[in-house]
Amino acid sequence: MIHRSFVAAAGVSGLAALALAQVTVAPPRSTEGARAVAAPASSEAGRFAAGTWLDLTHAFDASTIYWPTEKGFQFEPGTNGPNPKGYYYAANRFATAEHGGTHLDAPRHFAEGMHTADQIEPSRLVGEAVVIDVRRACDANPVYEVSPDDFVAWEEAHGRQLVDVIVLLRTGWSRRWGDRTAYLGTDVKGAEAVPLLRFPGLSPDAAKWLVEHRRVKAVGIDTASIDHGPSTLFGSHVNLCKANVPIFENLDGLEQLPEEGSFVAALPMKIAGGSGGPLRVLARLPED
Ligand SMILES: [Zn+2]
Repeated sequence: MIHRSFVAAAGVSGLAALALAQVTVAPPRSTEGARAVAAPASSEAGRFAAGTWLDLTHAFDASTIYWPTEKGFQFEPGTNGPNPKGYYYAANRFATAEHGGTHLDAPRHFAEGMHTADQIEPSRLVGEAVVIDVRRACDANPVYEVSPDDFVAWEEAHGRQLVDVIVLLRTGWSRRWGDRTAYLGTDVKGAEAVPLLRFPGLSPDAAKWLVEHRRVKAVGIDTASIDHGPSTLFGSHVNLCKANVPIFENLDGLEQLPEEGSFVAALPMKIAGGSGGPLRVLARLPED
């Protein structure tokens, strides 16, 4: 681990030296050195990276919301600080359930033989995101289930089908994050909490419609589960997982995304044989 860190640090030093070399070739006239260093990013990749990026991920800490039957995020601080050799050093330990906070459900979560976290094709984890806005329906009914009609309405409004996109369901629930009762319907923990869960989700029929009549890369939602809180059979999980469609749960900040045109990268921890795992989700806004 230490050796790897050293190699990474050496790599960064190498990049810094390269950047300095570029500045030496074309020295900035002003004191805005940082801008002068960034300016050479004129490639397509550089322009893409320079756009407006949003983080759709909740941070992991002791307050992060997990399923009521799971322990929360376990974080064990190491001895962080200056050491006798003169440099600062920080390294901690963590342990976590696969399914908690912003996370991936690999298809294997609810479908035998389907992809585990490490087997998901990268092309399913990156691409254009479309947002299905069901906030009004969820405000009126906190256990609302997104229906095939919601998808058809989006398609009619946007003049295109839900094909080769990451479908994100915007219930508005992420603004309740931090208040366990408001977010889950209960702050009870343990198996007795499960019948008390109340939050919106995707209807099993709509999941079936998506996999049978459209072709989506993945489906995400800003609640604790793709099936709504009262679900006991988890039909949306089953229908998506059986079709090898990954699921992203507990997303944050979907309010900031347009209904089409943003680019999302949802990169889970690559757990060999994993049924899911912690997920970092970034979105790049389209250019105006
Ligand atoms: Zn999950």
